[in-house]
Amino acid sequence: MKKSTLILILFAFLLNSCADTSSQKETPKTDETPKNSFGLVIHGGAGTILKKNLTPELEAQYKETLEKAAKKGYEILNNGGTSLDAVEQTIHILENSPLFNAGKGAVFANNGKNELDASIMEGKTLNAGAVAGVTNLKNPISAARKVMENSDHVLLARKGAEEFAASQGLETVDTSYFFTEKRYNSLLKAKNKDIKDKAASIDPFIKDYKYGTVGCVALDKNGNLAAGTSTGGMTNKKWSRIGDSPIIGAGTYANNKTCAVSGTGHGEYFIRANVAYDISALMEYKGLSLQEAAKEVIQNKLKNMGGDGGIIAIDTKGNLVAEFNTAGMYRAMVDENGTVTIGIYKE
Ligand code: ASP
Repeated sequence: MKKSTLILILFAFLLNSCADTSSQKETPKTDETPKNSFGLVIHGGAGTILKKNLTPELEAQYKETLEKAAKKGYEILNNGGTSLDAVEQTIHILENSPLFNAGKGAVFANNGKNELDASIMEGKTLNAGAVAGVTNLKNPISAARKVMENSDHVLLARKGAEEFAASQGLETVDTSYFFTEKRYNSLLKAKNKDIKDKAASIDPFIKDYKYGTVGCVALDKNGNLAAGTSTGGMTNKKWSRIGDSPIIGAGTYANNKTCAVSGTGHGEYFIRANVAYDISALMEYKGLSLQEAAKEVIQNKLKNMGGDGGIIAIDTKGNLVAEFNTAGMYRAMVDENGTVTIGIYKE
């Protein structure tokens, strides 16, 4: 046989075996196909949010604010801004609204104060920052970002966190800024239930509680993910209680290998179930899609433990997910075309 014929046969054999291998490959999961080159998801809390309990006016207000926040984030991403900037600026709008349990609308702790928690994480570097129990910062999410970028630490609490934030030039407010009648009445109602059930701390009113924490996850045009969460915690919380929102891995997580997640719900359960990190880990180590991982953690793991709540998430392919085991969750998604999809109830 001629040398050239031999090379030709060898080449044909190689080509054939290549084709064989690719036909043996699993069909990619639907959400492995790129969905959006950039995008974001926001939430304004989950809980017993029923249509019959919301007046049409209030529903319209929620939708309007969610849309405004979502559009702000989109504008930043569309102009080539970073996912971190989109997350921070979007959360500012939600923190500045009295509608949500974060910033201006934060709930009251048992001592009559508003103690705020927030965290932020960058998927590219796995850097993170958080503040807990701050009482005079207008936008705790920015304090969390300053902790991440300008300190050697991840989590700062109370007075120290406030001093650090002020040294970074962040806006401080008088504590009366956080007073809203609605939230104060919720505290009085909760305390009343508390008296009826001496053994209880926050559990007796959990059933009709609406978790109003806010969060945002984003993917930018450079393929970088970020997540952020901001909250007033839970009404009537005692003893400087801190929830999942400022805990990296529980309420917030971002990793460019997998996804960005922000949660809302009964924080004690989110901490014990490591909710946000668990979703990322299921993708990284078990190859689950974002939707599958979110469903597993929220509908099985968390629910079986007795934990109420939900998450929003986005993965590296721009898949947008909102998963919750409560009656509703205030949420909005924006795809790369700028289409905003708003949801409140299970639909
Ligand atoms: N997860 C928050 C906390 O436990 C509450 C919320 O989501 O509204 O502090």
